[in-house]
Amino acid sequence: MFSLTNAHLRPTWKRVEDDFVMGACAHRLFGYVSQDPDGVWSAFDEDARVVAVGADLRAVSEALWDGHIAAHDDHCAPAGEEPWWRRSIRVARERHLA
Ligand SMILES: [Zn+2]
Repeated sequence: MFSLTNAHLRPTWKRVEDDFVMGACAHRLFGYVSQDPDGVWSAFDEDARVVAVGADLRAVSEALWDGHIAAHDDHCAPAGEEPWWRRSIRVARERHLA
């Protein structure tokens, strides 16, 4: 059965750095996209898992968003959860510095 429950959702993309873009849904971050020195973008979900890789930022971002829609009810609906994205940002920074 097809559901229209989340059809109104739209992501907000915030470009934090030239090579780092964060995705927010209903003011909650759901993932981020970072670019490696070769120009390839990688999208990471809230568990810092790679969900999409490619040269096109738009395509990679949309893949990340598509993945979030299925998890939206679990990740965005409850309030007062532990901010998973703090850990994700730390992981991303460690990878950049590695
Ligand atoms: Zn959401």
